[in-house]
Amino acid sequence: MSEVVIIGAGFIGMSFALAAHQQGFGVEVYDKAAAPVLPKAATSQVIAVNPVSAEFLAEIGVWGLIPDRFVAKYQRMSVFDGQGTGSISFTAEEGGLTCLGYIVDQVALRVAMSECAIVQGLEVKWTETADIDELQRDLLVAADGAHSATREKLGLKKVGYSYGQNATVCVAEFSPELSPELSPERDRQAYQWFSDSGPLALLPLNDRGKFAVVWSSSQDLVSISETAFILALEASTEGKLGGVQGVSLRHSFPLMQQQAWRYVTEGAVLLGDAAHAIHPLAGQGANLGFADASCLVTELSAARLEGRGIGDLGVLTRYEQKRKTESRLAALAMEGFHQTFTSDSSIVGLFRSRGLRLVNENKILKRLAISVASGQL
Ligand SMILES: Cc1cc2nc3c(=O)[nH]c(=O)nc-3n(C[C@H](O)[C@H](O)[C@H](O)COP(=O)(O)OP(=O)(O)OC[C@H]3O[C@@H](n4cnc5c(N)ncnc54)[C@H](O)[C@@H]3O)c2cc1C
Repeated sequence: MSEVVIIGAGFIGMSFALAAHQQGFGVEVYDKAAAPVLPKAATSQVIAVNPVSAEFLAEIGVWGLIPDRFVAKYQRMSVFDGQGTGSISFTAEEGGLTCLGYIVDQVALRVAMSECAIVQGLEVKWTETADIDELQRDLLVAADGAHSATREKLGLKKVGYSYGQNATVCVAEFSPELSPELSPERDRQAYQWFSDSGPLALLPLNDRGKFAVVWSSSQDLVSISETAFILALEASTEGKLGGVQGVSLRHSFPLMQQQAWRYVTEGAVLLGDAAHAIHPLAGQGANLGFADASCLVTELSAARLEGRGIGDLGVLTRYEQKRKTESRLAALAMEGFHQTFTSDSSIVGLFRSRGLRLVNENKILKRLAISVASGQL
């Protein structure tokens, strides 16, 4: 019998599995998908990892295993209101940081986690599902994503809704040569436009002129022709990165907001997207999940020192209390951004551009924005 059974070896289930295994807990991990395989080049599926999450991934031995070509450090973030009237730009230096975060290829990160498990002798049962009624364990961890069947089986209720939008992702290639009107810092910046068709993020890849595109929109940006997509991309990016030379295959993901009422029950706990899924516009979903994983391991280790059972509801409630506030605040903030930046109202538009300018010009507000974006708050 294993002490901890984890359903789901995504980023969050795996990071928790590694951290718990390193703390000496007996861990068993199941994932219905096959083990990830390293892609040849960076894919369009990336995540922005904040410095706090990167430190956690380093502590559990994963960070150093990600090949450099799949990680791009970014030093500056520029946000535009898409009307050419308001913008904010913040740098790592202004926040006293060495970088604002990292853009990491999702598959390369999963491969690094899987290799780390092999090195540390933690077996992951790929392409296997588990019958949770049959498994003997002290604690069951549901890390099987936003559509978690384990959460349903445990009877933990959720609330949520669809945004009626999809996030379209691809890699866009801008000219590798910088013309004099473009910033020499172009390739070390992350960009966000709140364009008429929805929030558009351009995240630098470790390959000159290449950016991962994450475009949240109610329009179908996958079926339109490549030429139409490139024209729309050039129009929305206002020429700030230069002309688009080409784009990769586009994929799309439906967007939703979802929160479980309770993250815990006696002997079981929800982790990552199984507990909370938020709009990706600020790139915070996985970062919240890494913080869940780190917090849960800390609470289980404390319980062991106190001589308490790791499935004890009192112990698990401590994890829930610590994590719920942060994930609910993040969900509220994403909702606020979404409403403010998708509103057609001219009054909201005026406040939006004034608001961006105000934060840009006020050092204290700016430092606060940097702290939130880099996971320090
Ligand atoms: C377009 C987009 C962009 C994003 N960008 C960012 C970003 O920049 N930064 C950020 O922090 N977050 C971002 N996110 C959010 C982030 O992707 C998620 O928060 C994160 O992937 C959640 O990880 P997870 O491990 O909880 O769930 P998942 O990644 O969904 O993993 C769940 C795992 O469980 C397995 N599984 C499912 N059912 C079962 C079962 N019955 N038995 C066994 N295994 C099962 C699956 O195979 C999978 O491996 C983005 C999301 C989207 C949609």
